[in-house]
Amino acid sequence: MLILISDAFDATLPEKLTKYGEVTDDKTRQAEAEIILVRSKTKVTKEYIDSSPKLKYIIRGGVGLDNIDLKYAQEKGIKVDNTAEASTTAVAELAFALIIALPNHITQADKSMREGKWLKKELKRTELFGKTLGILGMGRIGTALAMRAQAFRMKVLAWHPDVFFSDFAEIRPTMKEVMEESDYLSLHMPLIESTKGIINKKTLSYCKDGAYMVNTGRGPCVVEEDIVEALKSGKLAGFATDVWASDPPQDSPLFDAPHTIFTPHIGASTQENMIRIGIVVDQLIDEYIKRKQK
Ligand code: NAD
Repeated sequence: MLILISDAFDATLPEKLTKYGEVTDDKTRQAEAEIILVRSKTKVTKEYIDSSPKLKYIIRGGVGLDNIDLKYAQEKGIKVDNTAEASTTAVAELAFALIIALPNHITQADKSMREGKWLKKELKRTELFGKTLGILGMGRIGTALAMRAQAFRMKVLAWHPDVFFSDFAEIRPTMKEVMEESDYLSLHMPLIESTKGIINKKTLSYCKDGAYMVNTGRGPCVVEEDIVEALKSGKLAGFATDVWASDPPQDSPLFDAPHTIFTPHIGASTQENMIRIGIVVDQLIDEYIKRKQK
């Protein structure tokens, strides 16, 4: 059995998986692979599946499954799993790091110091203490972020289509209500049909003037042009994003917008998470093989 590791995983994983069969990262051997491990880079489209005749099992190291044609995989009898639990801490910490960095002008202050400027008067900070954080998508990551925000004494609100109670946030029945009340908004929704472009000109108009927004969910959940307009008009005081319309972004209008912080889709990329993902991948392959042998 050939296991193809198509994207970046923990460096020790290939060695650990050799107990199950041959392990390679040589993508030219895709047609021979029974199990393919992907993160977000490999796009498992219909064409990809058609060019993988031996493929029986796709494991996505991470959370979203939006880079996999799930319907076609199911039609072909290919099992698909992810390692959903593993990435929660890593993404929540990045979201919170961006929430702290925006009102403290960390990137701007650093850049200006390197340019020999002294912006002591110009860089006016504001505190998170006592402010309201609105979480859109109160799943695992949203909940982990809420706990961190509570420690900073923020008031935490959340909207989620099928969560009605939380120990860590006041749940509001609509996204609009959360957006209207929040000083900070953090996006943690999956990319599905109903969330594509959900943050757009109309929904941005619900925001308080001067709200901050952070997106560590999925890039296409926001309409980038509308975010740029909101930043230029001052509707948004700042926007930080880890996720993009494509990885890497091609000609994003966000690069010309003021008050932004960008990271290259590194939400899940902590050393600790890579190890956790490896542990779950190992377990999943073990279970797959045991089922096959029954
Ligand atoms: P989760 O499944 O625990 O939470 C997401 C929740 O959103 C789900 O419970 C789902 O019910 C809910 N939801 C479904 N439809 C919705 C809708 N229309 N509007 C709002 N919410 C809806 O997932 P999670 O582990 O918290 O991850 C959340 C998202 O974060 C993932 O889907 C993924 O896109 C993103 N993510 C990003 C990175 C990164 O590197 N930046 C890493 C991991 C995950």
